[in-house]
Amino acid sequence: RRAAFAKLKAEPPVTRDGQRITLMVNAGLRDDVAALDLTGADGIGLFRTEFQFLVSATLPQRERQQRLYKDVLDAAGDRPVTFRTVDVGGDKSLPYLNHDEEGEEENPAMGWRALRLALDRDGLMKAQARALIEAAAGKTLNVMFPMVSEPWEFEEARALFEAQRAWLAARNRKLPADIRYGAMLEVPALAEVLDMLLPKLDFLSIGTNDLTQFLFAADRAHPKLAMRYDWLSPSILRFVRRVARQCHEANVPVAVCGEMGGRPLEAMALVGLGIERLSITPAAVGPVKAMIRSLDRAALAEQLSVLLAAPPSSLRDSLMAWAGQNGV
Ligand code: PEP
Ligand code: MG
Repeated sequence: RRAAFAKLKAEPPVTRDGQRITLMVNAGLRDDVAALDLTGADGIGLFRTEFQFLVSATLPQRERQQRLYKDVLDAAGDRPVTFRTVDVGGDKSLPYLNHDEEGEEENPAMGWRALRLALDRDGLMKAQARALIEAAAGKTLNVMFPMVSEPWEFEEARALFEAQRAWLAARNRKLPADIRYGAMLEVPALAEVLDMLLPKLDFLSIGTNDLTQFLFAADRAHPKLAMRYDWLSPSILRFVRRVARQCHEANVPVAVCGEMGGRPLEAMALVGLGIERLSITPAAVGPVKAMIRSLDRAALAEQLSVLLAAPPSSLRDSLMAWAGQNGV
């Protein structure tokens, strides 16, 4: 099987009925960029910038951040990279950043983390913004913000980046050819106000890891809950379908970057619901591409609309059976 996946490397991820899917990888370290050439992926759909912070004993200075971002962009060449601004706090705490100044958090996943922390402690994000903007001189910078819960948070983060761009422009520094701003959708509340945010977005990326834990109120790291909530549940699939439709209507590209997209049956369901961009763990590129190339997306979309109108007792079993009957 491994050899069969390797042979697929040069083949495009196109469904049997002609839909080109953008298949990207998740990364976080400089060496992860090698996965682009190894897998033949279209780009990096999620670069987790906090990895550099997590493996460092001290706060990485702006110059060090900038060097990493530039190395990643250089190695990626023409392939796009989407940098996610630091998602720390919660389960990823930094010893040198005193984030429990408010005391121990009882629910760190729902606590002072990601964009919440970054907007309050904006020195950190200002330095990161400058590092990213300077690293992407002459190129397109794609940046996205984690844990956006309300549109103003996205707007404030974008304004912070734009202020850094203006500051650098005033000093005649070479700027990116373009900066594209996106939000992660991982807090369910954002979906209720997505219409207000969409006109301001260049792209949206659904983070199904956090989204699932918040939709089901189930800790994503709790071993007793791991088998209880299925990604192939009506709640998640209907949620994704609705978001995908809204994004298509607003002409905003939408991706899924959670682990869900790296499982072939889950990825099949996502593609059937209208998701055309996936960012997944590099090891999953071969299996997911093989699935895409054997899929009749229009037929699956029809089947999904039947299944989601009156869900059977196990959507997973039904989708598995459909895949078996349809040569996926
Ligand atoms: C997610 O929440 O789905 C996601 C991609 O981000 P992370 O796993 O880094 O929280
Ligand atoms: Mg997340």
